[in-house]
Amino acid sequence: MRIDIITVSPELMKSPFEHSILKRAQEKGKVEIHFHDLREYAINKYGKIDDYQFGGGAGMVLMMEPIDKCLSQLMQKRKYDEVIYMTPDAPSLNQQMANSLSAKENLIILTGHYKGVDQRVRDKFVTKEVSIGDYVLSGGELAAVVLCDAVIRLIPGVLGDETSALTDSFQDNLLAPPVYTRPADYKGMKVPDILLSGNFPKIDEWRHEQALKRTRLIRPDLLEEESLDE
Ligand code: SAM
Repeated sequence: MRIDIITVSPELMKSPFEHSILKRAQEKGKVEIHFHDLREYAINKYGKIDDYQFGGGAGMVLMMEPIDKCLSQLMQKRKYDEVIYMTPDAPSLNQQMANSLSAKENLIILTGHYKGVDQRVRDKFVTKEVSIGDYVLSGGELAAVVLCDAVIRLIPGVLGDETSALTDSFQDNLLAPPVYTRPADYKGMKVPDILLSGNFPKIDEWRHEQALKRTRLIRPDLLEEESLDE
């Protein structure tokens, strides 16, 4: 997979891709990340990329021209499956979305700043809009990192068996069951006996029951979604 990220702050975004699973995914050749600094496509030599909004009101808007130039250059070189704009006024990211994006080959992620981007960018270029939740961040960079992490870890071969995504929350509309590690008894706080029993069918059954219990308690809406899917 190749991901091209358009941003006014490439430096803000780089570090998460230089560590842990995101770093290893690139080393294994599973994903290529390319940052594009919007200021390199500025409309003048002073680096202008934003302007006041028509109709008045506080806050600058990212202009159409620099984004058009950057996107057009990229789109001339290859075909993209999606041009994604990170924005709070969009459907929220979920595991289903991440699963589906993890099967794509080429993605562009556009991150906004200030009041956002000129609406005409969204109308002309953007094929998918993604929010990471009902709150407003200062810029789309951190949101794009969240999206990339959620997607990249699902690309086959990125995670080893020990961190398999298949048993994580949301994969089957359930929250994950509790997990424990050594010691089996920490100052009187004991691990449930079943996990020490070696009876794997029973352990699976227990985990499923725990997952159901947690989901009913914390996210009953997921179980409703499950019955709607059927
Ligand atoms: N005026 C916009 C609104 O009220 O919907 C908010 C603009 S926000 C200050 C600046 C940029 O941050 C947005 O263009 C978007 O790229 C990003 N952003 C902020 N909150 C976000 C969220 N919850 N999910 C995804 N991106 C977000």
